[in-house]
Amino acid sequence: MLSQAPRNTFWGAFYILHEITLRMKTWKYLMLFFAILVPLNAQAQSRIERIEPPSWWAGMHDPTLQIMVYGQDLKGYQVSTDYPGVQVVAVHDAFSPNYVFVDLLFHWDVQPGTVGLKLQRSGSPDLQIDYPLNRRRSGSAFRASFTPEDVIYLITPDRFANGLTANDQMPGMPDPYNRTDPFGRHGGDLQGIKEHLDYVKGMGFTALWINPVLENNQLAQSYHGYATTDFYQVDPRFGTNEDFQELSEQAAGQGLKVIMDMIANHCGDRHWWMQDPPFEDWLNYQGHPEITTHRRTVNQDPHASSADREKFSSGWFVTQMPDLNQRNVFMANYIIQNSIWWVEYANLSGIRQDTYSYPDKYFMANWTCRILNEYPNFNIVGEEWVGNPSIVSYWQRGKINQDGYTSCLPSLMDFPLTMALHQALNENSDFGSGWIRIYDVLANDFVYPDPGNLTIFPDNHDMSRILTQVGEDVAKDKLALAFILTTRGIPQIYYGTEILMSNPGTDSHGIIRSDFPGGWQGDRVNAFTGQGLTPEQKDMQSFIRTLLQWRQTNDAVRSGKLMHYAPENGVYVYFRYVDDQQVMVVLNKNNSPVKLDLSRFGERLQGIQEANDIISGQVMHFVDQLEIKPMQPLILELMK
Ligand code: CA
Repeated sequence: MLSQAPRNTFWGAFYILHEITLRMKTWKYLMLFFAILVPLNAQAQSRIERIEPPSWWAGMHDPTLQIMVYGQDLKGYQVSTDYPGVQVVAVHDAFSPNYVFVDLLFHWDVQPGTVGLKLQRSGSPDLQIDYPLNRRRSGSAFRASFTPEDVIYLITPDRFANGLTANDQMPGMPDPYNRTDPFGRHGGDLQGIKEHLDYVKGMGFTALWINPVLENNQLAQSYHGYATTDFYQVDPRFGTNEDFQELSEQAAGQGLKVIMDMIANHCGDRHWWMQDPPFEDWLNYQGHPEITTHRRTVNQDPHASSADREKFSSGWFVTQMPDLNQRNVFMANYIIQNSIWWVEYANLSGIRQDTYSYPDKYFMANWTCRILNEYPNFNIVGEEWVGNPSIVSYWQRGKINQDGYTSCLPSLMDFPLTMALHQALNENSDFGSGWIRIYDVLANDFVYPDPGNLTIFPDNHDMSRILTQVGEDVAKDKLALAFILTTRGIPQIYYGTEILMSNPGTDSHGIIRSDFPGGWQGDRVNAFTGQGLTPEQKDMQSFIRTLLQWRQTNDAVRSGKLMHYAPENGVYVYFRYVDDQQVMVVLNKNNSPVKLDLSRFGERLQGIQEANDIISGQVMHFVDQLEIKPMQPLILELMK
């Protein structure tokens, strides 16, 4: 919680003594006041404790940078530099005396080096900042990002693999290591991920989305990572900033792209600035938290009241996660620069933005456009957890909205498709239920400027695992996976899906995010090597591996157009196609075999003689009919 009393030692003492003298009103206490004041004042020396961002790069597209300097008694300092190509444009005092914000302008040909910034104030000793201006990697601006050609493996880092037990419990971090507590820290870390990159690559994934890795020095449930307490520091229980940089480098070496999970909406209530925020409006509802309504529709609803909009956007996500006020321009710059810093520092291939619709929406437009301005080929996926494609599409780049809202966000999580998939598999197939749910949602693709760039998933870290969603029915699970890996979009699979991890009988997040077997020394079962897996688990692992590895070789499924046919009799048929390649997918949700009359698909099957069955590996000759086994997907590479 915020304290109303000043935090600076000198002013804090002044405040307390002032209160005492007011109440006691005696000369004796006044004398005491001055006796203490003089030596305290002499000790209260200005000093710098933090500089954020801690470094920058020469040759960025945006020539400006705003540095936040935090320490003690910094108000009123002026800043100058004689570094060639760097100009101090402005210095801003904050409400708290312990911050200054320094605006720098870089000349286009400024050279990397150490920029000396001199801080001066009349009557105070000078302060000095040696600010690192680094050289960018070649090609940094035009870096490649994740695309529909990729398949993303989503990892919760505390729960994947424990590469280093020495960091399981760190000094000064109260949330204890406790592997028996589903909400405790289990010790998974970046070293664990590094050690198993070969497994991820071997499975056929091409990108990693890792749940947040930044410091979460919270009292409890810090394992999930969504309550940042330092935006420039990897949580020491996961590793160091350098470890994250190395992980990204090693992943790139294996052909794996790294997507960083970022949160612009909130921080953790034990974030260091909570003791001394720079401004009175650094947070929304600062000092008197209110919780958001979670009514995500207010951003689009033409009938929404201003009160509802305000409460949704400014309310805190939960009491432990203070809501950042991105309408404060210093906060806005802080978050945008922080994102760019991590792209550059960790050589990222993408960003996943949490709770995309919760922050100020004009800020989010600015955030996306400034990142895309630096990295024109970059992909960012936003989380908008609603089942309505009209609402999801509102945020995508290129969308023409009724209210004129535009942004630069390239991708969104396709929650409508996920929800439809769950319905499709759980309902009986009828005229208005079953596969038709998916068919109808995909028919809404006309509302998206770029439906092919949506990120699609059977589940994620925030919902019951897909196997549980379909009643622990492995056959349905396979249908779900076959669909996600062959329809339009960028597939994302949550770790453990490949070995049938599930959460029967509970929707506890701590259980959903269970430990990956084999990630801990002494684990009886090792999913990395296959040791101890049941035949059913091995079969699923092999099924997904087969599909993923095949997907890498087939342009039609990775980037082709989609044509689908209205589901009939519990069977959904669709095609992915490019000029010279074509894939036919048949999903049979019946408990009996189905004889599929092919004449209906003549539009796509003309001249097709043979097909390669991707799952069985067999070649089949095309005749008038296809027989599909009960509860099975059939994925066919068509050949003329
Ligand atoms: Ca560890």
